[in-house]
Amino acid sequence: MPEQRIEEAMALTLASFPRVRAANLPTPLQELTRFRKEIGGPRLFMKRDDNTGLALGGNKARKLEYLMADALAKKCDVVITTGGPQSNHARMVAAMARQLGMEVILLLTGDEPREWKGNLLLDRILGAQVIFAGTKDYDLIHPRMESMAEELRQQGRNPYVIPVGGATPIGSLGYVQAVLELVGQSVEAGINFDYLVSATGSGGTMSGMLVGARLFAPHLKVVGISVSRPRAALTQRLSNISEATAALLGVDLKFPPEKLAVFDEYIGESYGVPTPEGLEAIKLLAQTEGILLDPVYTGKAMAGYIDLVRKGYFPETANVVFFHTGGAPALFAMEEYFR
Ligand SMILES: *Cc1c(COP(=O)(O)O)cnc(C)c1O
Repeated sequence: MPEQRIEEAMALTLASFPRVRAANLPTPLQELTRFRKEIGGPRLFMKRDDNTGLALGGNKARKLEYLMADALAKKCDVVITTGGPQSNHARMVAAMARQLGMEVILLLTGDEPREWKGNLLLDRILGAQVIFAGTKDYDLIHPRMESMAEELRQQGRNPYVIPVGGATPIGSLGYVQAVLELVGQSVEAGINFDYLVSATGSGGTMSGMLVGARLFAPHLKVVGISVSRPRAALTQRLSNISEATAALLGVDLKFPPEKLAVFDEYIGESYGVPTPEGLEAIKLLAQTEGILLDPVYTGKAMAGYIDLVRKGYFPETANVVFFHTGGAPALFAMEEYFR
């Protein structure tokens, strides 16, 4: 088949998956000219996935359109998921569950913080049942979610369990779709994009982008800035999820871990702990463009982007899209860092 026909066939396959239309799509794409004047580098565009809607927005909305459609198809009445106390994913699961008339249980990492701020406050307002796991180890938390689900089944309920970040092949379809959306915007604007830059945590978002780029924009290079996992562990995980996502779409694609563009030098002390460079990036974007990044994901990713620009990683003639994956609600739990 000619390339065009394969792309059309893949777009149809993607469209055949059940999807709850809950996010405000397409999200805007805007050029960051004032910010670029400060940092240099190639033309830079921002894909505003912080504007997806769904109780303050973020990248999880796209994944949840597919995951929650799966939950609906299975007639589930309660959703269980996990994340950190400032999890954007948990907050958006809560919002989407409420919108669909389901209950929601959040098994969050660690112990109950003294104050309920940011996303945690929103979880409470959304009426989620919040339980603190007393551990940060997802290898312990995931089986606990399964046993909670089993207990609920015995009570006649029908739970749907979503792993951390919604990082499953079904969830990743949301970012295959996002690349298709971006390709449409690229044609409309008459600009060819060469790089996608994004924060990567659980890996579901970047995996979807990798598959989407391979299918719909083969010249597009996906660059991930890790916010938690070291490079080796993350690239293996990305490879697994990407290949499984492709398989779900009925295509056999390979994503060798060593070929993936992943940077792990911007994590800082650990996941969730802001870095000085990340905080500077947040302030610089806010003060040049009026756009709010977050301290856990997008601030660190932007700090990584700035550093890569300084190192000459991107050709001056390239067009780069930075995916703003959301997260600003966590700013309200980080007051101390901005005083
Ligand atoms: C979850 C999240 C990410 C990372 O997405 P993954 O699919 O987990 O890699 C990036 N930015 C924000 C704001 C997030 O909440």
